[in-house]
Amino acid sequence: MLALRQEVAPAMRVLIVEDDHGLCDVMREFLLDLGHEPVIAYDAESALDLLRSDRPDVVLLDICLPGMSGLDFLRLQAVRELRVPILVVSGKVTETEAQECLRLGAFDFIGKPLAFQRLEEILACLRPPRVTSDADAPPPAPRRRAPRALVALPVTVRECTGVEWEATSVNLSASGIKIRSNGSVHPGPAARLSITLPDGTTRLEVASVLVRADLDGYGFYFLNLTDEQLHRLGDLVQRLAAGQPAHLEPHLGILHTIGQAISTSLDVDEVLRIALDALTQVTGHEISSLHLLSPDGTTLHLRGDRGLRPPLRDINQVLPVGEGVIGRVAESGQTSHLADASESPDLLPAARAVVEQEGIHALVCVPIRSRGRILGVLSLGRRTPEPFTEAEIALVEASANQIGPALENAQLASETRRRLEEIKAAESQLIEREQLSTVGRLTAGLVHEIRNLLTATLSHAELALKAPDDPAKTRQRLHIVVKQTSRAARMLQNLLQFSRPHSMERRPCRLEDAICGVLELEGPELRRNGVRVVTELEPVPLVSADDGQIQQVLLNLIQNAQEAMAAHAGERVLTVRLVGVEGRARIEVLDTGPGIPAEVLPRLFKAFMTTKPSGQGTGLGLWISHALIERHDGALRAENRPEGGAAFRVELPYAAPRH
Ligand code: ADP
Repeated sequence: MLALRQEVAPAMRVLIVEDDHGLCDVMREFLLDLGHEPVIAYDAESALDLLRSDRPDVVLLDICLPGMSGLDFLRLQAVRELRVPILVVSGKVTETEAQECLRLGAFDFIGKPLAFQRLEEILACLRPPRVTSDADAPPPAPRRRAPRALVALPVTVRECTGVEWEATSVNLSASGIKIRSNGSVHPGPAARLSITLPDGTTRLEVASVLVRADLDGYGFYFLNLTDEQLHRLGDLVQRLAAGQPAHLEPHLGILHTIGQAISTSLDVDEVLRIALDALTQVTGHEISSLHLLSPDGTTLHLRGDRGLRPPLRDINQVLPVGEGVIGRVAESGQTSHLADASESPDLLPAARAVVEQEGIHALVCVPIRSRGRILGVLSLGRRTPEPFTEAEIALVEASANQIGPALENAQLASETRRRLEEIKAAESQLIEREQLSTVGRLTAGLVHEIRNLLTATLSHAELALKAPDDPAKTRQRLHIVVKQTSRAARMLQNLLQFSRPHSMERRPCRLEDAICGVLELEGPELRRNGVRVVTELEPVPLVSADDGQIQQVLLNLIQNAQEAMAAHAGERVLTVRLVGVEGRARIEVLDTGPGIPAEVLPRLFKAFMTTKPSGQGTGLGLWISHALIERHDGALRAENRPEGGAAFRVELPYAAPRH
């Protein structure tokens, strides 16, 4: 029969170096209670003597001591040579002092007020190697251990050498953490740990010291925890140890993060990014990918991933629906969970070698749906050997359920944006077309006018040639030729300016020039229709405008006025006024026509609002004019004049003065 062997924890001689007598008494009592042998020194000098004469197993060292300080004590060659583990007990240690103490050989810190439970833990791990005894030996006193929770949390280890590596915790207590060793790293004595707590987002940053290295991992003790950190850890460990599912908090946290992203973003890429980021936090060892179905439903396209290395990403870029693990999920709409993906017969042949190479074991793929339609597949792979638990699969499914409708909304939003762009482009085309048709109308009128001008010019030139002996008459004729040709040139220049391609370009612009240019262009038509033009142009500051667009608006208003008066009995007077009103320039176009019909007034600036027979009116002129003036941060208004006729008013802000 095999003899049962039991572990016996031997007592330790503990040297307390502390000037506070009260604290010394408590510590002594506590150590005695644990079965240790306390020895007290009230200053560093007597501690040194005791260290030499009566070598202790452990030293509990205060830093603030009368005479030689704790730090000085640590610096002593004799102390360092003795290699007794020294635990610094201090009320206030800065990070630099902590580093200094560690550098000088102290292996841990413990704050004041003293956390006795933690002290007990530390002493427990400093006990000399265990001795074994036969089963009939007296059973050891039961060791009180700090509560410890078996929980896998992502941990980033930053060693003081600058080396950084990722690990996962095996267990956690309020005073330390054990992390899984992956065999390739051998941590130095001191490190900063960054532990992602189960909510998936909070990170606990803490200075730590390595106190144990086993085959299955490394034990770190926390240094200088703040009260808040200590409290938080204590609470968490208690809850986890009390049997609450360790996954509940991170899972809710992940869903919460995804939910929040979805409710605040209508951007497809943003939704995908946040969801994938959140999901790789399940245990910190996951890689994730998200495929969306092509519009024809035959292929899946990789839209986002986390942790895929190039070979796996290449293979995953486009997948056929109905083939491979992910392709089958897209076809069947059923979740697929593989404990070892590389063993699965469903795996695409090209993927098998890469999946093995990447060390992916478990794989879970879930369909993303919205309103019964499959939109894509969300996949999570794991590089550690544990398969996904039911709770984790449920989490991935819940995430996919959240992502589905959000994706559809985001896709709808982007479709709406695309349509709006199309409408804008169509609007611009309409404006251009309307501009071209105005140019066409103007050209017809101008051709007639210029032909008359040229005829008159030609006649004067011929007459001047015929009677060269009358210099006074010849000069007079040549004057007329020059005047007429300059007028024709100006008209063509105006027309050219007006027919420039449509793209808004604001520059400081003199409205008087714009008005005169339009009146000159429209002059022949106005005269032909017997319209008297009255201009009242006050000098006003420059406005910042695209003069071509302003001319287009004025031309439209003048042509409308003209058409309205042409169909109306009575005197035809077109008044164009330019005034400065409350820091803005105002152009008024007034006519003596019939006025705007009452039923038209409320819809005057709407597109396709026309009272003209088809073929004559498009109902776009005022709609476009309104839009163009709004683009200039101005306003276009219309009303009927009390004395009869219509009044249109364009207001434009002045250009900012140049400094
Ligand atoms: P269209 O001239 O092609 O009809 P507009 O948008 O320029 O398109 O004008 C819309 C309608 O507004 C006109 O059909 C007409 O009924 C009315 N309207 C515009 N200007 C005047 C005006 N000066 N006097 C009376 N009615 C006008």
